[in-house]
Amino acid sequence: MLENMDEFRCPKCNKLLFKYKLKGELVAQVKCTRCKTLASLQVLSR
Ligand SMILES: [Zn+2]
Repeated sequence: MLENMDEFRCPKCNKLLFKYKLKGELVAQVKCTRCKTLASLQVLSR
């Protein structure tokens, strides 16, 4: 069940920020706890 999840990593330091699995669209912003970069993620429906 937890397999085949997409990973969202910090674009700067490559820290794994979270994993997700979804149907539909996702827009998220996460501040990396390691390097403080504000990383944004946008997934359009497939
Ligand atoms: Zn980072």
